[in-house]
Amino acid sequence: RALSDLEERVIACRLCPRLVAWREEILKHKPKRFAKETYWSRPVPGFGDSSAKLLIVGLAPAAHGGNRTGRIFTGDRSGDFLFDALYRFGYSNSPLSIGKNDSLLLNKVYITATVRCAPPKNKPLLEEIINCRPYLIEELNILKNVHIILALGRIAFDGIFETLKIMAKEKGEPFPIKKPAFRHGLELSLPDGKILVASFHPSQQNTFTGRLTKSMFDAVFKRIDQLLNS
Ligand code: SF4
Repeated sequence: RALSDLEERVIACRLCPRLVAWREEILKHKPKRFAKETYWSRPVPGFGDSSAKLLIVGLAPAAHGGNRTGRIFTGDRSGDFLFDALYRFGYSNSPLSIGKNDSLLLNKVYITATVRCAPPKNKPLLEEIINCRPYLIEELNILKNVHIILALGRIAFDGIFETLKIMAKEKGEPFPIKKPAFRHGLELSLPDGKILVASFHPSQQNTFTGRLTKSMFDAVFKRIDQLLNS
């Protein structure tokens, strides 16, 4: 219930004027293959299992991916790369995430983003990350079983690190960790027992150039398996 309440508020959010305007602008630049599609064109909420042990944090919906389909990491090559891995590692009943009306179910994983609206050039402003942070905090508070947080890309890593620091401060808990520089495979034990893992983002830019290969991504999920079962 708490997640569906949050979802409703996220979908109605209009806090970032630049991103609200950009949602309209995107509609004028649909690629031919999506020309007849009705785009979601609203903020894209998180998606997954409310008893998740693994929380995956991405950057933001893609203009013609999540912003089109209404589901995070869905309808673009980044999502195809991610959902294929999730299926092979037992987190999903299908390797394909097509859209909000398919029968995809996630198991023990929840996927969210640093900002919930598609930003121009996939680059959110700091103020937009700050505006969207309360939703991430709510998700972290609701998803009580999360043990591992996987940040996809530097912006997601920096965003979730700052979020966890703010949450600890608000609760009067210590957070004696200096943020390390982002690198693929980074693993950070947090004061509350959670573990933050970092991976390159599975963007086309990274996967097409070989910066992030399937075996590199699999190694991250193998390590997460080990951490969850240790
Ligand atoms: Fe609201 Fe987040 Fe979208 Fe900004 S990015 S309008 S805070 S949902």
